[in-house]
Amino acid sequence: MPAIANLPAFALNGNILHAEGVALTDIAERFGTPTWVYSRSAIESAWSEFAQATQGRRALVCFAIKANSNLAILDLLARHGAGFDIVSGGELARVLAAGGDPSKIVFSGVGKTRDEMRQALAAGVRCFNVESESELVQLDAVAGSLGLQAPISLRVNPDVDAGTHPYISTGLRDNKFGIAHDRALAAYRQARQLPNLRIEGIDCHIGSQITEIAPFLAALDRVLDLTDQLAAEGIVIRHLDLGGGLGITYSDETPPARGAMLAAIFARIDAWVSQRGLTPAEAPEVLFEFGRAMVGNAGLLLTRVEVLKRNGDRRFAVVDAAMNDLMRPAMYEAWHDIVPVAPSTTATAATEAYDIVGPVCESGDWLGRDRQLALAEGDLLAILSAGAYGMSMSSNYNTRPRGAEVMVDGSTVHLVREREQVADLFAGEHRLPPR
Ligand SMILES: *Cc1c(COP(=O)(O)O)cnc(C)c1O
Repeated sequence: MPAIANLPAFALNGNILHAEGVALTDIAERFGTPTWVYSRSAIESAWSEFAQATQGRRALVCFAIKANSNLAILDLLARHGAGFDIVSGGELARVLAAGGDPSKIVFSGVGKTRDEMRQALAAGVRCFNVESESELVQLDAVAGSLGLQAPISLRVNPDVDAGTHPYISTGLRDNKFGIAHDRALAAYRQARQLPNLRIEGIDCHIGSQITEIAPFLAALDRVLDLTDQLAAEGIVIRHLDLGGGLGITYSDETPPARGAMLAAIFARIDAWVSQRGLTPAEAPEVLFEFGRAMVGNAGLLLTRVEVLKRNGDRRFAVVDAAMNDLMRPAMYEAWHDIVPVAPSTTATAATEAYDIVGPVCESGDWLGRDRQLALAEGDLLAILSAGAYGMSMSSNYNTRPRGAEVMVDGSTVHLVREREQVADLFAGEHRLPPR
């Protein structure tokens, strides 16, 4: 079975693309399109690479759930012992509903509301990643009002260029995230004075879809440097949270393997620990917050060609998925491979350069441009590498019900989210009363 590029869970079998043991044509027949298709084995193998790399160490790999917050995925990772990185009260509720352990939750985000702080304190999350001096003061007040102490890290902005798209680069001085490196020391001093906060760690996250190890190591060096400065003042850092951001292969990117990336980080930390003569118990625990690298290549978006048309010099394939489903191309000009599900049935059509577009009323509504494909109306296409920031970023723009989500496990398909119904989309809206 020839697997596609580097996606072992998705392969041609009898000239039909399969997810593990299930033909995508069967999934389309049973669940309709567009449908998000996830592979359990692909998620588990990503998880086990991280788990192996951290074996025997004090480390916690969290899943950044904004990448894909479906309860089945959270449940699966929780069963394997994953922690979770959340950015809202809604995401907290999802982790708890999926059976996640609150003591393995870290709470990130630049604008936590007081309500969200209360919910997270009541749940007993592991740590708040605090992103501003104001948030320190607000969190201290909220924790005090509940008679609790809030465990905190400060998210420092290491001013490292992650070499990624500007919209997904978060570690530079001029973006909204974190506390500038040169203010971090003062912020920790302030935190130490606040009675309802307990300093646990230090945190950074420099961006997403990073395909080199060097920016991670540069950020780590700055974090370790700060940890030394804090230690000199008697502020003990018990954990280093190094964020997420490890990239995946969409086309020809060659990100470091998960294990190699973690090994490089641990080697640097181990050297630092031994230079300082710290015992294993004194060495900081290491936390990560991976999203894309956990699920990005474990999912695809299954869609059907509705219309083929030609305008001027361009050929368009209008499919039943759109920018509201998969926003990444419109938002970041991201590239996703798009492949036919049953190449043999289209062998009679001529190969042409198509723009793959959705039905949404926006010129930005495209999923792929200039793709060499042999297509007929009614064909199924798979938009690959759509497991991360796909469904979780989707919207109902144009009053389009979002697709179903299914998880394949061997030869079994589990419906893990039902297709939305149009009536649900305006169920909470009200007409005006008569005047
Ligand atoms: C988005 C985000 C992550 C996950 O990023 P990936 O690139 O998907 O690994 C981790 N931590 C924080 C704070 C984030 O905002």
